[in-house]
Amino acid sequence: MNPDDESADAELRALDDGRDPLSDAEGRLRLSFTRVDTFQRCPRQFRYQYVDRLPQRPAPALSFGSSVHAVLEWLHDRKTPELPPLDDVLTQLRDRWDPSGYAEVDASVQRREYEHARQVLGAYHERLTREGLRNAVATEAWFELPIGDDVVVVGSIDRIDADVDGGLHVVDYKTSRRTRTRAQVAASLQLGIYALATRHLYGELPRTVALDFLLPGVVVRVDVAEIDLDAVPAAVTAAAADIRAGVDDVRPSRLCDWCDYRDLCPAWDGDGEEVLGRAAIEAGRLRTRLRREVRELRVLEERLRDLGGPT
Ligand code: SF4
Repeated sequence: MNPDDESADAELRALDDGRDPLSDAEGRLRLSFTRVDTFQRCPRQFRYQYVDRLPQRPAPALSFGSSVHAVLEWLHDRKTPELPPLDDVLTQLRDRWDPSGYAEVDASVQRREYEHARQVLGAYHERLTREGLRNAVATEAWFELPIGDDVVVVGSIDRIDADVDGGLHVVDYKTSRRTRTRAQVAASLQLGIYALATRHLYGELPRTVALDFLLPGVVVRVDVAEIDLDAVPAAVTAAAADIRAGVDDVRPSRLCDWCDYRDLCPAWDGDGEEVLGRAAIEAGRLRTRLRREVRELRVLEERLRDLGGPT
């Protein structure tokens, strides 16, 4: 799996490992943000995962993420407003730790990541000690959001907080190391879906949506007015139409290194030797380099013009 992928809970994992059917009894496609994202990255990977329902390899990143998410769900779902001691939080980690993703790696990897999870939760607890525990109206809020007549977007929102005056705020936890800019958060299809899902569940849009990057302890929050909500149904509908049109195309990229189905994929010959994949990845790398060099050339030409030199 892509190392950036995360899944919040057991229900979402069941959905996204292909056990949840791709369409319902009325023929509506059941999509999630992860399913749309997988299709956009590579239709063939989408097919293997959600149409053929081939098993995925154990993924340490998924276990790490779901274990930390489970502890945060417990922490924010408690009925008492006081922050529990850190020892209680770490006990929850011990009890809720999901070892399944470490089945194919050395035991030292799991030990290291368990210790890392303790540190991440310790830093989160310290943050809450400073900032206080917000009032969560829901954790792991499951939604089934109809889009038009033939798509239902399903998923789970990590946390929805409420202001003292009742205004709602969506929070999605991320355990990836890479953070995002405010512009990227505002343009996130996932958060756009969550905003519409909140309105579907509670009858009103949230005031803000945020990604909480747990590892660096950074929260990137945007006002819901900054999100182009009209673009969300359009993007989902377009993805659904493309999925209905076919899921056989291969789209080789550097992410093939994390794809569970590379051994089956026609872009590769099954034993790691290149067929199409290596060439496609190299072409992508060269295109990126070419674009960067063209940008640098334009900057230099601009400076030469300013200096009155030849261009
Ligand atoms: S190996 Fe690459 S091209 Fe093939 S299915 Fe996986 S992601 Fe797609």
